[in-house]
This record gives sequence, structure tokens and C-alpha cells, in this order.
Amino acid sequence: MTTNAIIGAGPAGLMAAEVLSQAGASVDVYDAMPSGGRKFLLAGKGGLNLTHAELFDVFVTRYGARSANVQAWLGEFGPQAVRDWAAGLGIETFVGTSSRVFPKEMKAAPLLRAWIHRLRAAGVRFHMRHRFTGWTAGGHLKFETPAGESTVEAAAVVMAMGGASWPQLGSDGAWLAALEKRGAKVAPLLPSNCGFDVRGGWSAYFRERFAGQPFKSVAIRHGDFLRQGEFVATETGVEGSLIYAASAMLRDEVLANGEATFELDLLPGRTAAQVAKEVAHPRGSRSLPSHLKSRLSLDGIKLALLHELVPAEALNDATKLAAAIKALPITVVAARPIAEAISTAGGVTFDSLDENLMVTSAPGVFCAGEMIDWEAPTGGYLLTACLASGRAAGQGVLAYRGVVASRAAQNLAR
Ligand SMILES: Cc1cc2nc3c(=O)[nH]c(=O)nc-3n(C[C@H](O)[C@H](O)[C@H](O)COP(=O)(O)OP(=O)(O)OC[C@H]3O[C@@H](n4cnc5c(N)ncnc54)[C@H](O)[C@@H]3O)c2cc1C
Repeated sequence: MTTNAIIGAGPAGLMAAEVLSQAGASVDVYDAMPSGGRKFLLAGKGGLNLTHAELFDVFVTRYGARSANVQAWLGEFGPQAVRDWAAGLGIETFVGTSSRVFPKEMKAAPLLRAWIHRLRAAGVRFHMRHRFTGWTAGGHLKFETPAGESTVEAAAVVMAMGGASWPQLGSDGAWLAALEKRGAKVAPLLPSNCGFDVRGGWSAYFRERFAGQPFKSVAIRHGDFLRQGEFVATETGVEGSLIYAASAMLRDEVLANGEATFELDLLPGRTAAQVAKEVAHPRGSRSLPSHLKSRLSLDGIKLALLHELVPAEALNDATKLAAAIKALPITVVAARPIAEAISTAGGVTFDSLDENLMVTSAPGVFCAGEMIDWEAPTGGYLLTACLASGRAAGQGVLAYRGVVASRAAQNLAR
């Protein structure tokens, strides 16, 4: 029996392998790295956010312009299915802060161990240190291995090689050229859930004292986007969960206009009127820092940012200072490189794929996971869609092989 190949042993590829092996199909998984699921393991370092418990109708909107496409996979394997699947591997989950869902142990390693064990037991064969490099003229898969080039004949293949962030963990986007050669359209790979450089960089004073420090409980406003949360100052700009949430919008605006400006509310717990009243309160002989600390508990990195960005004349004008505290404009001029991003936007376009995730120009070649052209914020949306698309691609292979087998039987009968 000719095998079904899965290239990429991340969550999307492993899920495709699971669907195929459960149906009794022959499955060989190939990965460039010495072991699979490295990004998945890294995701578990800060607490593996597997999925999200918000209402399904809201959940699907997180995929923005691709919501309708991703919903097709999520309808088959959504947030609750992810939790049930984890439970089937002996991993209990819980709903944490802001409805994010985590394994009780928070880590990815126990889940990945149990999963790979179950796949091996179901007959899935793993081939590590096999880097896919393209197809031979005869249509076989080509791999670079420690023993030299190896070729594999597969009846169908699921490409699940991830995006291009954190390339040291295995996904480097090098698959792009091979798929384009097969006729797939690939939207440029871009950083998603990424940090940004601020215009002009930080002063040496600010950078040396505050890079790495958090802005806690602040809010960002940009057009219709308004969200409260946290982020950190970096050597060159800003990054962290609140920035990631706004990152697709900021990135697209930087690409279009060369820069993007958001407003930072340093005291979202107080109204503009309250802030204006406290700033205007007579301060006598007290310095501005001690006045802002005593009236508004504003100090540390927040105070330093005001000094960094607000001209001295405005700092001494109560009205202007109050306005800056509630809406300090921050201009970013570049997204950080994709290698530093949490995830990747762009990839194989949906119009290159059929409803079973098969590349229409390359029958028998399926795609899954982050290498498809969708993006989502952090919050468990990335892993959920990767798992769901892996499942959809696996089912697509089964449907394709069924069709191919029945065509062959009809030909024999003729
Ligand atoms: C720091 C960090 C934290 C994260 N935390 C979360 C989180 O809490 N929740 C969440 O939902 N998401 C999180 N993510 C994102 C999530 O990990 C990814 O979206 C997900 O792993 C993508 O799955 P994938 O299977 O598509 O690709 P990957 O996990 O990237 O797997 C792709 C596999 O393909 C292999 N490969 C690549 N190219 C080749 C080749 N040419 N030949 C052979 N093999 C190849 C790679 O070695 C890799 O094993 C995080 C990401 C990062 C970087």
C-alpha cells in the first residue's frame, strides 16, 4: 500500500496523522528537526493556551477576514472538541482568566508525549531529520537527511510545515518556493502577534532603565480598537499581549503608510475629567513627579514615558499633560522581524485550495496549519485553528483516496 505522507510534526501535521491512522490508513510523518512539536513545546513554556471558552459566534470572528474559511474547520473541530480531545489524552483543561483554556498542568510536554505515544501505537511512523526540499521530476517527495537525499512516493501528502516565526524551532517558510512551483499561490509571509519599533527609537536613558519593564493596566486606542491590558518596553519599541492584539492592524498600516500611531491611555481606570482635576490640583513646592505620584499613583515607566514623549512645555501645562496621560500618541515605524513574531500571517491562499484543503493545481497535495493564509490573535485561536485544519486536511486525504480508489476500481471493471 502506498503511504500517506505528513510533512511537519507540529500540531497541524500530528492531527492530520491522527485522522488518517484512525481510519486505518498508512501514515509516515517527516520533520526537519530531531524531534517534533518544538514550537508547541515552547508555547507551553508560558502556559499552553490551547483554546478559548468564549461563545462560538464570537470565537470565529477572531480570524478576521478569514473567519468564514476557518469556521468551516471549526464547525467540525471547535474549542470544545479541542478540550475533549485533550481529555482523551489524559490532559484535563480549565478555563482561566479572560476565558482562556489551559491544561491543568499548564505545560505542553505531557500532552505532546501522550499524543505521540498514541500515534506510534496506532502505527504512525516518524522520520526525523528529514527536510522536505521539493518534488522529483517523477512527482516523488524529496528530503535532505543526514544520510543524503532521500525520495518518497506518497499517494497523498499533507504539508504542515508552519509559518516562518522562530525558525530555530523548525518552521522557516522554505516550503514556499516548492509549493509555488506546483501552482499554489502564496501570500507574502508577514509577522503576526509581533512587536514594533517606535519612531526614532527610545532615548539612551529610557532604554537603559526601562527596556524589559511592563506597562501594567494601560489601554490602547486605534480607530475602533480599544483594549486594556499590558505590554512591555523593548530596546527599540514595544511588544507583549496588548501590542500583539493590535499588531495586525498596526502592521498593515505601517506597510501602507510607513508608520502607524496609536493612543496610549496610561490610566484607563480614571476618566479624563478625573485625571484633569488631579493634575490641575495645586502642587505647591512639590516636584511634578511627586505630584503625579501622590495625586494619580503615576510613576516608574509611565512617568518616564511622559518625560520621553511629551515636550517640556506641555508637561508644565496641566491641560496638555492630562490629555497626554489619557491619550499619549505612540508612533511605530516597523514591525519586528518575522523570526521574532509569535505567528505568521500570509501563506497558501484559500483560492489555491479546495474545500478539503487540497491544492487545486496539485492533486493529492494538502495543506494545514499556520502555512495557510490566515492569522489570529493570541488566546488559543492559533492552536485551535491549526488542530482543526489538520483534521480537515486528514479528512480531505481520506476523501481523495476514496475517490482515487473508486476510480481505479471502475477502470478495472471496464
Ligand atoms: C513563543 C510562542 C508561544 C505561543 N503560544 C501559543 C499559545 O499559547 N496558544 C496558541 O494557540 N498558539 C501559540 N503559539 C502559536 C502556535 O505554537 C503555532 O501557531 C502552532 O505551533 C503552529 O502549528 P503548525 O503545526 O502549523 O506549525 P509548527 O508548530 O510550526 O510545526 C511545523 C513543523 O514543520 C516542520 N518543518 C518546517 N519546514 C520543514 C521542511 N522543509 N521539512 C520538514 N519539516 C519541516 C518544523 O520542524 C515543525 O516541526 C505560540 C507560538 C510561539 C512562538
